[in-house]
Amino acid sequence: MSYARVLCIGLVGVEGHLVEVEADLSLGLPALVLTGLPDAALNEARDRVRAAIVNSGQRWPNRRITVNLLPATLPKQGSGFDLAIACALLAGAGELPLAPIQGVAVLGELGLDGTVRPVRGVLPMVAAAAAAGVTQVVVPQGNAREATMVPGLTVRSVDSLHRLVAFIRGESELLDPPPDLPDPVMTGPDLADIAGQDFGRYALEVAAAGGHHMSMIGPPGAGKTMLAERLPSILPELDDASALEVTALQSIAGVLPPDGRLIRRPPFQAPHHSASLAALIGGGSGIARPGALSLAHRGVLLLDEAPEFANATLQALRQPLESGRVILGRARGNTEYPARVQVVMAANPCPCANPAGDQYCQCSALARRRYLSKLSGPLLDRIDIQIKLQPVRAIELMTPSAPAEPSATVAARVADARAAAAARWGAYGWRLNAEVPGPELRRPPWRLAPKNTASLRVRLDRGTLSARGFDRILRLAWTVADLDGRDSPRGSDVNEAAQLRLGDAHDRQARS
Ligand SMILES: [Zn+2]
Repeated sequence: MSYARVLCIGLVGVEGHLVEVEADLSLGLPALVLTGLPDAALNEARDRVRAAIVNSGQRWPNRRITVNLLPATLPKQGSGFDLAIACALLAGAGELPLAPIQGVAVLGELGLDGTVRPVRGVLPMVAAAAAAGVTQVVVPQGNAREATMVPGLTVRSVDSLHRLVAFIRGESELLDPPPDLPDPVMTGPDLADIAGQDFGRYALEVAAAGGHHMSMIGPPGAGKTMLAERLPSILPELDDASALEVTALQSIAGVLPPDGRLIRRPPFQAPHHSASLAALIGGGSGIARPGALSLAHRGVLLLDEAPEFANATLQALRQPLESGRVILGRARGNTEYPARVQVVMAANPCPCANPAGDQYCQCSALARRRYLSKLSGPLLDRIDIQIKLQPVRAIELMTPSAPAEPSATVAARVADARAAAAARWGAYGWRLNAEVPGPELRRPPWRLAPKNTASLRVRLDRGTLSARGFDRILRLAWTVADLDGRDSPRGSDVNEAAQLRLGDAHDRQARS
């Protein structure tokens, strides 16, 4: 036999696609030709595969070898095809029986010495293979646990080409899949760690319940970052589909923890303001890496010290925030990653960022205005909750009061509020209050009684509130009502929502 075909999997964006690796060996000048849209990494596969085969003690067929990757129209990137190419080539040369790996998807990068190295993106690849009806996969040992996250598949792993060849010849077994781990205990920062900041905590709860973007302005030490870091702890756990998506993105980025398991807690990303555009949005050579924006998919993206971000960077976030996806232009077609995130922006009130607050600030009024003006415009326009935070007073820290509520308690209220919103909007295709277009809230049956919005209409008439701001407050009012278990917002809910929007509450009054 001088022809063989082995199954492999390629990745385009977050989607895996089955790829057939064909090898044909014919008489002629010895050479190895790769066809089927290979990118640079794939071209290097030629040298890796040759060295790996020879160094694994196999005979290199001295013939004219053509390796073709099908379908030809699919862009192929990365080094995950090495192992399949080596198998197809050896089988085509008659060195290996093909039957044991018929219908088995084979994945892995080869080192020159014949070791099999892990590759990025195994989870989405294996998930796609399973969806396409493949029942068995062979993956690098380092990716085995990740691959076992996909149900209904037999996962075998290898550490070297030598071992795989011996297995196909029936001379030895492959490595066992890793043992199951006990269910994870959710750990991470908890709201119980935060003393004081009742207003900030409440704003965070509303943000979680309604899915609202949020901005916080306050001096260093006000706890802006601490609050933002705890937003994932009060959001609902990811469902199966979202967990797979989020974990797949981490797999593609190569940042999946080694004990790889499905990620259930909504992710949290806080890129530094000096981060490159590629780090934020995604990019890089080979398989484009998802940026912080996509790694925060279904979770929280914190832009800490937001005015310090370059203007171009903030602008680049606009389009993905609207569409919920990032499109990266690549030489061989675009790569698309999901990016449905909840944004939290944090900023100091002025460039000097004096921790003692306003008292010692030397900044001129102009400098302060200019500093915060970077937050205005289209990006801030999308942010429903905009609050100012004061530093935590010594008295709040020192006076033993009731212990702060833990995240689990808040998360339960958030879950109830979300369920109420989902039941109300389900027929319209929305799940969260933040998704409801403003005009809908001003139309029957959702329009509020005039007495409930009286205070807003006064502001509107005076010009201290924009029409857009009006809609945002209505949206927040529904979340406030959902959290309190009311069917629709009343006047006090609207006023509370206005505080969350206009940010002029110094401290949230005790709710009655
Ligand atoms: Zn200052």
